[in-house]
Amino acid sequence: MRVDVLTLFPEMFEGVFGTSILGKAQTKGLVSLNAVNFRNYATNKHNTVDDTPYGGGGGMVLKPDPIFAAVEDVLEKRSKESAAVAKPPRIILMCPQGETFTQKKAEELVQEDHLIFICGHYEGYDERIREFLVTDEISIGDYVLTGGELPAMVAIDSVARLIPGVLGNETSAVTDSFSTGLLEYPHYTRPPEFRGMKVPDVLLSGHHLNIDAWRREQSLIRTLERRPDMLDTAELTEKERIWLDKLRSEMERTSE
Ligand code: SAM
Repeated sequence: MRVDVLTLFPEMFEGVFGTSILGKAQTKGLVSLNAVNFRNYATNKHNTVDDTPYGGGGGMVLKPDPIFAAVEDVLEKRSKESAAVAKPPRIILMCPQGETFTQKKAEELVQEDHLIFICGHYEGYDERIREFLVTDEISIGDYVLTGGELPAMVAIDSVARLIPGVLGNETSAVTDSFSTGLLEYPHYTRPPEFRGMKVPDVLLSGHHLNIDAWRREQSLIRTLERRPDMLDTAELTEKERIWLDKLRSEMERTSE
């Protein structure tokens, strides 16, 4: 996969792209992460990429021309590098008005071979970028940040870790919260007893069927307690539904 991020602050990506799992994924050739400064595509004398809004009002608006030119240049370079570019890229605008980013969206984006992220700043974007250039608009939550760089890092990290081979055996995306439609079960490691706090016996038993059953049960309890909304769409057996209904009633009774 190739990922290009259009930003006014490419230096912000150096640490994130070069460190830990993302750094290793690049060394292994599994992903190529590039930060592109779209100020380099400004055509005016002072290299400005923003201007005052038509109609008046506060704040500066990102101009369409540098961003369109930067995307076109990335596409041209990509087609020169590889004659066999099959699919057009997804061009993703980071903005608080977009679709809320989820694990499902990360799973959808990892199917692509080229992603271009656009990071805004200031008041916002010229609407023509939204209407005529991008394929997706992504928000990382209902709050407003100063720029799209941190949101783009969040999205890129969660997509890249799903690329086969990126995570080693020490971490696995398969049982992660949200991947299964449920929150993940609790984890324990050595020592078996710490300051009188014990690891559940079943985890020390070596009995894998019992361990799997305990983990599933804990996952269900945790999801019921913290994110009951997820249970509406989770894949559950009839037995699990009945058990959860009973648990829900008990929880309601004890909270009264
Ligand atoms: N005036 C804009 C609005 O009300 O929608 C907010 C602009 S914000 C100060 C500047 C930039 O930060 C946005 O263009 C976007 O790239 C990024 N940004 C801020 N919050 C974000 C969020 N929750 N998700 C994704 N990007 C965000």
